[in-house]
Amino acid sequence: MSKPSATDQPDRRMTWQKRTIHDAVINRHDHPTAQELHKELLHHGIGLATVYRNLTHLANEGHIQAVNHRGEVRYDCNVAEHAHVSCTVCGTLWDIPLPESIDLTTSDKISSVDHVTLTLHGICRNCSA
Ligand SMILES: [Zn+2]
Ligand SMILES: [Zn+2]
Repeated sequence: MSKPSATDQPDRRMTWQKRTIHDAVINRHDHPTAQELHKELLHHGIGLATVYRNLTHLANEGHIQAVNHRGEVRYDCNVAEHAHVSCTVCGTLWDIPLPESIDLTTSDKISSVDHVTLTLHGICRNCSA
């Protein structure tokens, strides 16, 4: 197994900070923000700028997904194509499977589709109780 040297691809190095941030995202299924991850990792002495930088690298490298949600970026350990349901009251975001079929032929504006984002917005059972 040959690894690219640090000088070829400096951003792909797995530093301990990057590994720790990666593991923190992988161990959560609630789509945390960078601030939430920073709070969780405070005891490791990892600064917010480092958290942001490494989350961006991890997302660009396909280890995690960055999801734009209601004006903020949430980090997702699920890198497979999936849809979300979101509570408009508490802001919680859950994963759901994408619908079996989406008619992609209805738009003549785009020649090919490379990915789909779909979020259903509503009120969760906790908040509606
Ligand atoms: Zn809710
Ligand atoms: Zn997700």
